[in-house]
Amino acid sequence: MKSYRSIPNMRKEYIKKGTCIFCGKNKPEVSFYEKPHTTPHSLGSNRIGFDICDSCNHFFGEPDKSMFPRIAVETSVKEIFGLIRFMLNLESEGHENDELKSKYFNFWRSRKTLQFRSTFSGMSYFRRTFTKQFKRGLYEIFLQEYHLETENGLDPRFDRVRRYARYGIGDLPVWHLQMRMIFVEKSLDVPKLHFDPSSIDDINTYGFYPMYLWGFWFYLEVTPAADLTREVYLREQAKKMGVGGFVVEDLVLLKDISQIDFTLRQLYGRN
Ligand SMILES: [Zn+2]
Repeated sequence: MKSYRSIPNMRKEYIKKGTCIFCGKNKPEVSFYEKPHTTPHSLGSNRIGFDICDSCNHFFGEPDKSMFPRIAVETSVKEIFGLIRFMLNLESEGHENDELKSKYFNFWRSRKTLQFRSTFSGMSYFRRTFTKQFKRGLYEIFLQEYHLETENGLDPRFDRVRRYARYGIGDLPVWHLQMRMIFVEKSLDVPKLHFDPSSIDDINTYGFYPMYLWGFWFYLEVTPAADLTREVYLREQAKKMGVGGFVVEDLVLLKDISQIDFTLRQLYGRN
C-alpha cells in the first residue's frame, strides 16, 4: 500500500491575506480551516468570509469566560435577530406554528408577547452583559462583512474594532434609530450588509458605518475619525432620517437592549 502521509494537506483554507482580521496572527501559529460565517448561520446566512482564524471563529460562538454571565458574543446577536425574525414571521404562511428557540426569552403565543425568562429579567448585570455582547457582535459582523467585500479589514483604522469585538477592550458606542413604525423586509432569510459607495464614504469620511439589518438601523463608530465627526454626522443622519417625525422617533445611544424594539411592540401595538 502506498503511504498517503507524504501528500500535503489539501484541506480547504479560508484565506486571502493570510492574517487573521481579529487577532492579527498568521499560519502556522493559527489555522484557517473552519468556515467563517460573516453573519450567523442560524439566521439563514450562508455568506462565508476569510482571514478569520479558527480560534477567533470559535471564540465568538463560545461562552465568553471573561464576562459574567458567560454569554457568547454571537449568542446575543442570534437571540435578538432570531426573535425579530420569529416575530416578523408570525403572521406569514407556513410559520404560524413555529416554535421559538431561545435561551433567554419566553414567548406567549396567545398574547404575542416576548419576555426575558424570569431567571434573567431582574438581573441588571445579565442585561448589561447581554447588551455589551450584542454590541460587540455588531462590530464583529461589520469587520467580517467589510473584509469580505473589500479585503481591507486589516487596515489599522479598524484596530479598535478588533480590540473591542475580540477582546472586549474599550467601549465602542452603538447608536440606534428608534422607529415608530416597522417596515417588514421582503426577504428575511439573507441578512447581508450594504457596502454601497455612500456607506463606504461614511466610513472613510466620518468613521461611521450605518448598519441596516431587517428594518433596524444601527450606527457604528468604526474608525477613530468618528471621535471628531460624531456630532456633525449624527445630526445629519437625524435630519436625513426624519427623527422626531411620523416614522422615526429618536436616535439614541444604545445602553440597554430594551431600547431596541425587538419584541416588535410597534408592529403588535403593545407596551
Ligand atoms: Zn484570530
